[in-house]
Order: sequence, then C-alpha cells, then structure tokens
Amino acid sequence: MNEVKFTQKIIWSLPFPAILVRGSRSDFELIFANEAFLKITGKKVDEVIGESLSDHISESGKNGLSDLLNALKNVFQKGKEVQVSSRRYIFQDRNSEWFGEKTFKVILTPINDSKSSRLTLLTFYEDLSRDKQGSTYEQNKKLERLRDETQKIARVGSWEVDLQKNTFYWSDMIKEIHEVSPDYEPDLESAILFYKEGEDREKIREVVQNAINTGEAFDVELQIITEKGNKRWVRVTGKSKMKDGATIRIFGATQDIHKKKMTELESMRVLKNFHERVKEQQCLYEISKLCNLKTETDDLLARAVEIIPEGWQYPDITVASIKYGDKIWQTKGFVETDWTLRCKKDVSDKHSLSITVSYTKPKPKLDIGPFLKEEKLLLESIISNLVLATERIENLKKLEELNTSLQKRTAELTRSNNELEQFAFVTSHDLQEPLRMITSFLTQLEKKYGEQLDEKARRYIYYAKSGAKRMRQVILDLLEFSKMGADENKKTTIDLNEIVNEVLSQNRRMVEELYAVINVNELPVIQGYKPSIRQLFRNLIVNALKYHQEGQPPKINLSAEETDKQWLFSVRDNGIGIDPAYHEKIFEIFQRLHNFEEFEGTGIGLAICKKAVQRHGGEIWIESQPGIGSTFYFTIPK
Ligand code: ADP
Repeated sequence: MNEVKFTQKIIWSLPFPAILVRGSRSDFELIFANEAFLKITGKKVDEVIGESLSDHISESGKNGLSDLLNALKNVFQKGKEVQVSSRRYIFQDRNSEWFGEKTFKVILTPINDSKSSRLTLLTFYEDLSRDKQGSTYEQNKKLERLRDETQKIARVGSWEVDLQKNTFYWSDMIKEIHEVSPDYEPDLESAILFYKEGEDREKIREVVQNAINTGEAFDVELQIITEKGNKRWVRVTGKSKMKDGATIRIFGATQDIHKKKMTELESMRVLKNFHERVKEQQCLYEISKLCNLKTETDDLLARAVEIIPEGWQYPDITVASIKYGDKIWQTKGFVETDWTLRCKKDVSDKHSLSITVSYTKPKPKLDIGPFLKEEKLLLESIISNLVLATERIENLKKLEELNTSLQKRTAELTRSNNELEQFAFVTSHDLQEPLRMITSFLTQLEKKYGEQLDEKARRYIYYAKSGAKRMRQVILDLLEFSKMGADENKKTTIDLNEIVNEVLSQNRRMVEELYAVINVNELPVIQGYKPSIRQLFRNLIVNALKYHQEGQPPKINLSAEETDKQWLFSVRDNGIGIDPAYHEKIFEIFQRLHNFEEFEGTGIGLAICKKAVQRHGGEIWIESQPGIGSTFYFTIPK
C-alpha cells in the first residue's frame, strides 16, 4: 500500500470532515474526501474528486474562502503545517444550496506522496465552545480522541507548560516520539534534557526562555536523544499566552521529522560532495589546460599556484606555494600553518617539485580532519601533471639546444670539408705541372747523358723517375677523390651487370695473368650516380685481385640481396685478408697496410668507395680474416 492510499484509509475512518487537496497555483483540487465530509455535503466520493475546493466549501463572511486558500498556499510553498483559527464555514449540499454553517478550526498538514506532488490534508474540527451547542463532556472526549488520531498520521504531539499552576503536559504522541512509557511524567527541565547536549540543548533553552520572557513564538528543528538512546530529529513549535504582561502558559507541538530530516541531510551531503568533486575536477582541468599551453616552466608554475586554492573546500582561507629547484611561487599571504598538506616529486632526477597547501586559519566544524581524502588525491594529480609538463618543457628546451649546436657543427663540418676538397683539388692540380717538369727533365737527363753516367747514377735517375710516377698517381687519385660527386647531381638508371663487365674488361690482362676466377651473380638495375658507382665497383674488384695470396689464383664472388628498403652487395675474395684491428681504418684516406714494394697503391681507393656509398645514403663495412680472405659489404637504399 502506498503512502497516499494508507493516508486515505485513515482519513476515511475519521468521524469528522477531512479532505485531501492537491495544490495548484490558481485553485486547489479535491482528490479525496472522507465519509464525514460527504455526509455534510450529501455527495458521493466520485462526485467531489477532481472538483475545485471552492465549489464545495465556503466561508461565511465577506472574505469568502480567501483565508483558507492563503493558508493552503502557505502549506504548499513551505511544506509546513498551518492552523486556521476557528471560523465559520458553510458546505454546499446535493441541491447546490449552501447549508451546514458551523464554526470549524482547520488544520492543514502537508503530505508528500511518492510522486512528490504536494498534497495537503485538511481536517475540520468543530469548535463546540464557539457554537455553544451540544457541548457535552462526552462529545469533548470523543473529539479529543479523534484529534489524537489525526496527530498520529503526522506524528505530531502537543505539549503545554502552565507557569501558574506549575504543570507540564505531554500528549501520547510526544511520549511515543521520546520513547518513554505512557505514564512518564515530564517537567520542563527533564523535557529539555532530552535535547542533544551542546547546540541543540542550548537552542531549546534559549527559545523557551525567550517565549517566557517576551512571549515570542518559536519554530525550531533540533535533535533529541530518546529514552532508548536513539537520535531523532524533531520540529518544535511554541507559543505563549500572556496575562497582565506576564507569560502564564506556553504550549506548542512537537513533530517527529526524523525521516524527512535524514533524507534532507543526506541529499545535502550528496549535493555538497558533488559540488566538491566538481570543484576539484574543474581545478584539475584548469591545471592540465595550462600544462598543455605553457612553454616556459616559470610561467606555468606561477599560473598554477594561483589556480590550486580553487580546488579546495574553502578557497577563501586556502593558500598555496610551489617550490621548484631553488625558485618559489606563492599565492598572496601564504603562510604555513598547522593545517598544511604537502606533496613532493622529482623532475628528471635533477630538481624536485613540491607543493604546499595550507588553511590560513582553523575552520570550525571541518567535516573530516582539515583536508578531505579527495583533496589529497587532487594534490597528487596536480603535482603529477606539473612534473610531466615541466619535464616536457625542459626536454624540449634541451632538444632545441642540441639541435642548434648540431646544426652549427654540421655547418662547420661542411665548410671545412668543402675547404679541404678545394685545397686538395687546387694542390693536386697545381702539383701536376712541376711534377711533369721533373719527370721530363729526368727523362732528358737519362736520354742525353745516360751513356756518360755510371750504373749508380742511372739507378738514382730510375728511383727518382719511379717516385715521380708514384707521386703522379697519388695526385691523380687525390684529384679524383676531391672531384667526386662534383658533377653528379642527377641519379640515373644503372645496370650493375654492365658496370662489372666494363671493369673486368678494363682489367682483363690482370685477370688472365693471375688465373683469377670471378663469379658474378645476377646483379640488379639501380638508380644512382654512375661515375661513383663505377669507381666503387672498380676499386673493390681491383683490390680483390691485387691483394691475393702469393701463388694462389684469386677467387672472387659478387652478389646482391634485396630487402624492402635496400640492396645489400658483397664482394668476397680469398686474398690475404685484414687484421680486424684495421677494419675501420682502411676506409680512411691514405691509410695503407703495406708499403709500395709489397703492393702498389695510394691508400685512396677505399676512401673513394666509402664516399660513393655514403653519397647514396648507404653503408660500407668489411668482414675479414688474415690468410683466409675478405668480404666487403655495402648497402644502397632503393
Ligand atoms: P690501396 O689499395 O691503394 O692501398 P685502398 O684504400 O684501396 O688503398 O686500400 C687500403 C688498404 O686496405 C690497402 O693498403 C690494403 O692493405 C687493404 N685492402 C684493401 N682491399 C683489400 C683486400 N681485398 N684484401 C686485403 N686487403 C685489402
């Protein structure tokens, strides 16, 4: 059975007129009437339900129904019980004629149904004393009983203190609310002691005393501790009656509003919590927005410190401070008090960042400790965000610095490289002329005076000539090295099989003399700078022939492997091999492992190879063992 149905059932059995109305702004609709009410009007339930209140009841006198309607509006808006003092009412009968004029006191009690539309219960108490008719003791007794029953619905009881007779009265409902036995005899002091010690008890004392002293009415919501030790919210209203300027009686009602109050408090608590969480999220959102926006640590932290207090329960008394390295940012009037929350984290192992949040003064009635557990979490989230942002900003700065210095170094390197190549080109070019002169005069000397010279002198001339020849080779190689790539600015399609054939035919005599066996696997067609690629293959093949083992015909194998992004080439021989200690050195210019008598050469060949491969964005390296052979690998990106 829902609440309204239950209420209706009770109302139905009441022997005095009672109706339930639903409030609307303009009029009040009757939604239920009891038997006693119907008896007066002579109508059936379904004839009155849905009708307007003013169609069935009216007040005699010129105000009509306005007092009652005003009272109803009051109940509807404030949700509090209202009493309309005794007035004369007339009810409309089945013949639409007004009759039954009697004096009634009307009590309007708010009732909430489960759909939370406000209903009001109107109970009409015939004021027998006013009408002075049929006022018997019996009738009065009956009326009292009936009133008690109505009070039960709203769990409201009455009390009275007669200051002259020094008596104290509690109705049964009040005793029930206080969980005392029906024969409990209260007095003013013991009644007050039921109120919760502290604020509640002080308040009731104050309002009662005030009612006695000045006659002022009161209406308060306080907590009592019942006889059985249960905490219960009650609403106490009181009035005083004065005689000759002195209060002789104070009386009122006490209503059990525990259920309602608890719901109210709970929703207030939920609402407050919700509000706090929203504030915390808002603060965190502002901080993370800053973190994404700011590019300077100082700027970020100076702004962040101002935002932090906004996330706390009491922003007005909250101050914050951020310390990073030896710098500090603080909100205005920052002080560290006993109500302080701290958090510290390292930023990239260098400095640490710490945040302090303080309440500048103690807040009375702080709910749980000085800080909420959510506020501790909030502080941790804020610091994590700031640490990440600070790290990001600093890393970015370092990267920028690195980039600038790298760019500077690259520029320097390019310049010195260019200068070196320029120098090599100029010197090799300029040296050719005097060298030609030396060679030609030595040849002249040999030709014209050769027969006059002795054997020793002729040998000297021979050495000088072969030195000059070697020098010429060095100059030519150097010239080639420095010129490399200068006139290559466009890649072309190169069939590597053709290149290898070309190299082999140029060196056919050497191949034949050495009985070399050269195996060339199918090589690809690539995009590249032809002169560089030709030099690369020529130098590697010639070296493989040249550095063969004494008395052993060279066996050379050329092959290529394809991957997604590049070609991997290898040139393998069975020559003298190279000690791993020199595997990197040999690619440097002028680095040779043999003297001229052993193997002819200038030490420029592999440097040219390296330069050629690098020009194509590839790499070159060697795997070799002395006495077994060497394999040169290089890659050419596609
Ligand atoms: P060069 O051949 O003119 O001396 P390179 O730059 O071509 O100059 O080679 C540098 C050195 O690397 C050579 O002096 C030689 O000692 C070694 N080398 C090059 N190729 C081979 C090879 N296939 N087998 C063994 N040693 C080699």
